[in-house]
Amino acid sequence: MIHTFKSRLPLLAIHGGAGDLRPEDLDPEQSAAYREALQRVVSIAWPMLRDGGKALDVVVEAARLLEDEPLFNAGKGSVFTSDQRHEMDAAVMCGKTGQAGAVAGVSGIKNPVQTARHVLDEKSYVMLSGNGAEGYARNKGDAFEAPEYFYTEARHEQLLKAKVEDRVALDHHKYGTIGAVAVDVDGNCAAATSTGGLTNKQYGRIGDSPIVGAGTYASNKTCAISCTGYGEPFLLRSAAYQVAARMDFGGATLEEAVRATVEKDLMDYDGDGGLIAVGPNGEIVLGYNSAMMYRGWVARDVEADCGIA
Ligand code: ASP
Repeated sequence: MIHTFKSRLPLLAIHGGAGDLRPEDLDPEQSAAYREALQRVVSIAWPMLRDGGKALDVVVEAARLLEDEPLFNAGKGSVFTSDQRHEMDAAVMCGKTGQAGAVAGVSGIKNPVQTARHVLDEKSYVMLSGNGAEGYARNKGDAFEAPEYFYTEARHEQLLKAKVEDRVALDHHKYGTIGAVAVDVDGNCAAATSTGGLTNKQYGRIGDSPIVGAGTYASNKTCAISCTGYGEPFLLRSAAYQVAARMDFGGATLEEAVRATVEKDLMDYDGDGGLIAVGPNGEIVLGYNSAMMYRGWVARDVEADCGIA
């Protein structure tokens, strides 16, 4: 499914993961809770962007709010690894400067996207992982939480079920990663993605989300992208950068680029999932090849709304 909107700047889109739940399988109370969470985040982030906020600041703030929301698989509410811990990945990229910051395999950091932002701002490195990233976050004064903070009953049940079935499970048949993309009034793009990864994943496994060009990408020349789905195919196909490259080198529109990547290339690799994309030309494109993707969007000429199936 590809949804496209055209508007004057600024533009904002968020996601809360993609997956295989069909609309008829969705519990009405649960879907209402997801909608409410998506709407709340859009309603907080949008005024910042509308009133002249920078795309980079707005995507980090939207991602932080989504990390704090236990319904989503990022920050609080992250899924469990095979050894019953939480290992989170996050990235942020600025389309104006081309700088990115990412953390991978981190535990205890309340808002991994915030630490990724520090990495971006400092410019010395692009990605930090594990203990080193946690030490860096402590030096920056980022908040830490005990394991209980990240624990949710639903995720723990998912882990136990996945262990019985001996599989690396998707989050309730969906992925649950979060992301935000924006173009501000000055035409600057930014993208942020944050995740707990996959339930019952081998500890140490790192997905597409924190990898520049795989799960996250932004360039003022083309677009800002945040992906969600089974990470390995997104890594193998450089999914986020592939969309930008189709525009940059192939002359595709954002919609054409997203369609070719999501509906053709990723599907050839069993790349179940989707992505959100915005371009400085005023396009918002939300594309997924799975049954659903939690998503929210708003722009100067487009009323705030959200969708699931
Ligand atoms: N892409 C994420 C990963 O593979 C999962 C997700 O999108 O929920 O780590």
